[in-house]
Formats: sequence, structure tokens, C-alpha cells
Amino acid sequence: MADPKGFLNTDREVAETRPVPERVKDWNEVYVPGSLLPIIGKQAGRCMDCGIPFCHNGCPLGNLIPEWNDYAWRGDWQAAGERLHATNNFPEFTGRLCPAPCESACVLGINQPPVTIKNVEVTIIDRAWEAGGVTPQPPERLSGKTVAVIGSGPAGLAAAQQLTRAGHTVAVYERADRVGGLLRYGIPEFKMEKRHINRRIEQMRAEGTKFRTGVEIGRDIDAADLRRRYDAVVIAAGSTTARDLPVPGRELNGVHQAMEYLPLANKVQEGDYITPPITAEGKHVVVIGGGDTGADCVGTAHRQGAASVTQLEIMPRPGDERDPVGQPWPTFPMLYKVTSAHEEGGERVYSVSTTHFEGDEDGNVQALHLVEVEFIDGRPTPKPGTEKRIPAQLVTLAMGFTGIDKDNGLVEQFGLELDARGNVARDADYATNIDGVYVAGDAGRGQSLIVWAIAEGRSAARAVDRYLTGTSSLPAPVRPTDRALTV
Ligand SMILES: Cc1cc2nc3c(=O)[nH]c(=O)nc-3n(C[C@H](O)[C@H](O)[C@H](O)COP(=O)(O)OP(=O)(O)OC[C@H]3O[C@@H](n4cnc5c(N)ncnc54)[C@H](O)[C@@H]3O)c2cc1C
Ligand code: SF4
Repeated sequence: MADPKGFLNTDREVAETRPVPERVKDWNEVYVPGSLLPIIGKQAGRCMDCGIPFCHNGCPLGNLIPEWNDYAWRGDWQAAGERLHATNNFPEFTGRLCPAPCESACVLGINQPPVTIKNVEVTIIDRAWEAGGVTPQPPERLSGKTVAVIGSGPAGLAAAQQLTRAGHTVAVYERADRVGGLLRYGIPEFKMEKRHINRRIEQMRAEGTKFRTGVEIGRDIDAADLRRRYDAVVIAAGSTTARDLPVPGRELNGVHQAMEYLPLANKVQEGDYITPPITAEGKHVVVIGGGDTGADCVGTAHRQGAASVTQLEIMPRPGDERDPVGQPWPTFPMLYKVTSAHEEGGERVYSVSTTHFEGDEDGNVQALHLVEVEFIDGRPTPKPGTEKRIPAQLVTLAMGFTGIDKDNGLVEQFGLELDARGNVARDADYATNIDGVYVAGDAGRGQSLIVWAIAEGRSAARAVDRYLTGTSSLPAPVRPTDRALTV
């Protein structure tokens, strides 16, 4: 156990963020570099090393949290890093981006602020990289088997790394021009600098994983041909079909899907543009959708110099505290979240629905009309007399995703069965209805989280390894789909 009295004599502290006026002028991560180091040992020392560590169960990866808390408290960073990597291929992604269901499940959280698990995680892995402790782990021998992974988001990367380390020859096919999936082109630089992805890709290349960018399976290569060419396939193509808003004026210039807007801003960071083709500069911006994607649009618009930013959400404002009946500990509660983007400004409006967009004679959006709603019999119902017009020269739609891309031929060419929600159907072993074709991450699970994508990538890799060789020693979370406590 770490400090036996740590939870009694140390208050929770989290990473310090840079002042808002400073950070909105650049795209770097919002945290003060190195701010965690002086506090992290004591924070890890708050862990009680519970007999039943609920944090484990809260984490889809089954992270060995009390073990690495103990090592971090003792200052044994190398051992901490090894324990971290035992269950997670990419702790620098989750340590920065995860909403930390482990912290919602932490036993200390019953009557105190929980352990800062996520901050401890990111400190351990950043130190491991700095100390040269993250090195390529190529397999000792090759199996002679080949695997194609479709998609290079966290699910595809995790599956590819595990299968490569098991000795299989793995090629990752990615339709975008760069590797990383939503880590690269969805999530903005200020949440995670892309150098973290690049560093991992270098490690993976050195281990033997091959990457083929700019190749869309279904369009550029027939999916059935791909299956014939490889001994197994993992589909990790994400849930990229964006939900639309079919109201009058949707066709106006300046109304875009969030995933049309965010990738362009990310491409500026990659050096592809100086000014992106869609920018918030000088505009009144309205973001429709109150989730993480919406928050990323808000933070991006601030940095591009928007005149104003308003985020709309059809649901009522969530509560500040856990509802002990509806969302009791240790479940992951839906709470009012103030992300770094929200700290930077803008207005959030709840319980409203967009009725139509208004444009000028050139077809450019100029305003958005909304109405307040109340939920009657579970349906949002407009409240008469609450109509309102707000100026908008840029509108981004961040209303979620409805499953894998069904337009590029991949689903038909494989002959895949889909589930009722439009995701690729799979059994408990991540196997689709096609022999040797597996699915992991958002493509099978639906829109979710990075931590789930990594967990499913690891689990699918183990299933594929068993399919190819009859057995597998690859570690994987214990059937993460059965974990009941998490989002
Ligand atoms: C804007 C935004 C912000 C988010 N922020 C967070 C966050 O802060 N924390 C968090 O935990 N989660 C966040 N999420 C969710 C998280 O990013 C996803 O759950 C996660 O990336 C899913 O991983 P994946 O590997 O399944 O799919 P993806 O990351 O979507 O990757 C799928 C990849 O497959 C490629 N592809 C698709 N079809 C083909 C094809 N036919 N051929 C070749 N390649 C193909 C795509 O180009 C893409 O690169 C966010 C999502 C969005 C949209
Ligand atoms: S539940 Fe919290 S206090 Fe208990 S072992 Fe996990 S991190 Fe430590």
C-alpha cells in the first residue's frame, strides 16, 4: 500500500492549466508542463490499495491502478511504467483524454474527492518516455501469418501492436493521409499534441507494423479481396456516419458537420494549411450538440478568433452532483462538465432545439432559429412563445454518430451483418459473421471512448491470435463488454 494515511492528510490536486488569455493564443496542450511532478507522489499516496479496487472494474482496460499508484508513490517510475503497459498500449492517450470512469468508481469517491488516477497515469507514462523506457518490442519469431487491420484509430493501433508483438505480419490500412483516426483529426491539439501519436507510430514501425495510408478498403481495395489476401482481418473503421439535422436552411454555406470542421483545424497543426478552408475567425459561431465533440469545436473556435461562441444542447442541463438513486457510486454519472474549452468562454444553452437556419442572398448562413423544449413522454416538445434568433455565420453539427460508413462498399463486399444500431454485429469474441473477420472499437461498439477502443483492440487481437494459432498468450481485458459499471 502507498501512504496508509495519505487519503486522510492530503487533499486532491489536479494538473494546473495555463491561464486562459495565454493558452487561447496557441494550440499547445492546456496544462502547465511539468506541473504534476511536485505533487504526483503525494497524490498517488492517497490510494488506499482497496481490498476490492473498484477502480479496476470502472476501467474498461482493467488497469492495475493500486499497483502503479504504489510504485509512483515510492518513486519507482520504471516499475510503475511496466505495470501501466501491462494493460494499456497507449497510456499517454488515455492519461490525457479519458473521462476517467476509474475515478468515478474509486472507493475514496464515496465520501471524498477520488484519487487523481488519470494524472498519475499521464505522469508515469510521460516520465517513461523521457527516461527512454518506452522502446520497441519486436517479436522474437514470426508466425508466418498475416493480418490486415482496417482503420488506424486507437482500436486499430492497439490490435495491430498486439498482433505484431505476437509475431504476425500486420498491415494497417487507413483511408486518411495520416495515421491516428479521431486522435489525429478529431481531437484538437490543445487536448493532445500529435507528437504523442507520432512517437507511438515510430515505436510500432520499429516493431514491424506496416502502415498504408490513403487506402480506403471498399473503394481502393475490394474488401473480399483483402480477406483472401490475409489470414485474418480486424475492422477498426470507427463510427464515422455523422447524425444530421434536416431542418430548413441546412444546405446553406457555413453549416458543417463537426468532423468537416475539426480535421481542417488539425491539418493546420500538421502544416497543411496556414488558414483552414473553414474557420471561425471573426464569426458568430453556434455549435449544436453539448458533448465532447461540441466542446472541441468550442475550443477550436476560440483559438481561431470567433466573435462569439454558443453551444446548444437539446437535453436539460445535467446536475453538478451525482444522483444517489439514479446514478449511484460506482457508476459513471452524467454530470455538468466544465471542459478546458468551456473555461475559455462562450455560452451554453440547454433544452433548446433548432427550427431552421436563415441565410443571405448569397446562400451563406447568417442566423439560427431555436425554440425551448420540454420532454413530454420522453419526446422534446417545443414550448410556444420561446422562439429565438441568434446570429451565426458558422454552425457546426456535433450531434453524434450513427455507425460505420455504409457508403464505401466495405459492408457489402465483406457481406457483414449489422446490428440494430448500424454497428458491425459481433459475438463475444469480436468475430463478425464472416470467418476470420473481427471488429473492434467504435465500428462494433458504436460511438464511444478511446479507452474502450484500446480495450476492444486488445481483446480482438487475442481472439485473432487464437484463431490463427489455436491459442494465445496475449493479455486482454476480461471480456470488457461485460463490465457493468462503465460508460
Ligand atoms: C471530436 C471528437 C472528440 C473526441 N474526444 C474524445 C475524448 O476526449 N476522449 C475519449 O475517450 N474519446 C473521445 N472521442 C471518441 C473517440 O475518439 C473514439 O471513441 C475513438 O477514437 C474510437 O476509436 P476507433 O479506433 O474505433 O475509431 P476511429 O478513431 O474513428 O478510427 C477509425 C479509422 O478508420 C479509418 N477508416 C474508416 N473506414 C475505412 C476504410 N474503409 N478503409 C480504411 N480506413 C478506414 C478512418 O479514417 C479512421 O482513421 C472523441 C470523438 C470525437 C469525434
Ligand atoms: S478504488 Fe481508489 S483508493 Fe481504492 S485502490 Fe482504486 S484508486 Fe486506490
